[in-house]
Amino acid sequence: MIDIDKVRADFPILKETINGKPLVYFDNAATSQKPQVVIDSIVNYYSTINSNIHRGVHTLSQKATDAYEEARIKIQKHFNAKNSYEIILTAGTTHSINIVATGFTSLLNKGDEIIVSALEHHSNIVPWQMLCERTGAILKVIPMNLDGELVMSEYDNLLSNKTKLVFVNHVSNALGTINPIEEIIEKAHKVGAAVLIDGAQSCPHLKPDVQALDVDFYVASAHKLCGPTGVGMLYGKEAWLNKLPPYQGGGEMIKQVTFEKTTYADLPHKFEAGTPNICGGIAFGTALDYMNSIGFDNIAAYEHELLEYATKKLLEIEDLKIYGTSKNKTAVISFNIGNIHPYDIGSIIDKLGIAVRTGHHCAQPIMDFYKIPGTVRASFSFYNTFEEIDIFISALKKAKMMLR
Ligand code: PMP
Repeated sequence: MIDIDKVRADFPILKETINGKPLVYFDNAATSQKPQVVIDSIVNYYSTINSNIHRGVHTLSQKATDAYEEARIKIQKHFNAKNSYEIILTAGTTHSINIVATGFTSLLNKGDEIIVSALEHHSNIVPWQMLCERTGAILKVIPMNLDGELVMSEYDNLLSNKTKLVFVNHVSNALGTINPIEEIIEKAHKVGAAVLIDGAQSCPHLKPDVQALDVDFYVASAHKLCGPTGVGMLYGKEAWLNKLPPYQGGGEMIKQVTFEKTTYADLPHKFEAGTPNICGGIAFGTALDYMNSIGFDNIAAYEHELLEYATKKLLEIEDLKIYGTSKNKTAVISFNIGNIHPYDIGSIIDKLGIAVRTGHHCAQPIMDFYKIPGTVRASFSFYNTFEEIDIFISALKKAKMMLR
């Protein structure tokens, strides 16, 4: 059970007013708000142990290193990775995907095939297109249906012994669809392909177990799960991470450097060149502790109630159409009202203190599929309330009247 008053008290920003109205924050899929413990973790780091890590003999550096490595272990435990060195701390999902996409350049041959899905965020499309340009590999796409679900029979048809890689998001950011990743992984492995799952949108709502999934790579951003921006993770199976070349060269990622030859550091440092976002990594660990203290079962159950309530209320508005009607979805609702441009709705309700996303949500192929310029997207989190949904609904009715 979520104690909503207690939870809301953890988030200082929820007391803010926007344009003179109490903030109603429904843009959680873009980034989540931060609880006080995470903010404190950032302040404490800079107030008490700020120094560079992994290289200092002095006490402060040791303390910062210990805190950073403790965070890695928290992330390892959260995702149930076998080893902490299989967790690479990155700048976020986009960075993590690019590490893998770039690394595969030397492992692919012309004519090899890689599969993405029609439901991907641009950050899980463009790096693979760039990989195809570099290698001559061919990009194939699992199509979607009108409910915003992947057409799995078509996936079966795409798979062959030419398939080397499969990349799919766990949850679609534009529609909220939860994809059948267990089946996707199992079938890819049968043809010998590696699988990367983009967990940017799943991790705020559920707790993935990378060993149970038997996934090769899993990526996520801290800022979507109550942590700071500019930090994220790449989980990779040890064998794959050892196979991939480093993404960036620099300090920290080497064993030995001479002008003749450089040897690389062991995992995870091989992929962590330069001074990382130390404070961000530590606060990522704090954010995971916080979310686990709320409990992912509680989060999922409460958000599902919010989703059902909001869906019912929205559908009472005449001419409102929801895109993404899978039964298996997180608390994300993408919609349009008649021919009104989503941007106009977003701007009017912003004046009433309500934050939603409008546009293509970095998923233009989905918008093209539905033949629309974009949607209004309301995405809920465990600190949102039913009362906020009521405020949202009456604001939408007002906007509709004004824009008619
Ligand atoms: N994939 C998905 C599904 C996303 O929703 C996002 C963020 N909107 C990303 C990737 C990229 O994440 P980031 O901007 O944190 O790198």
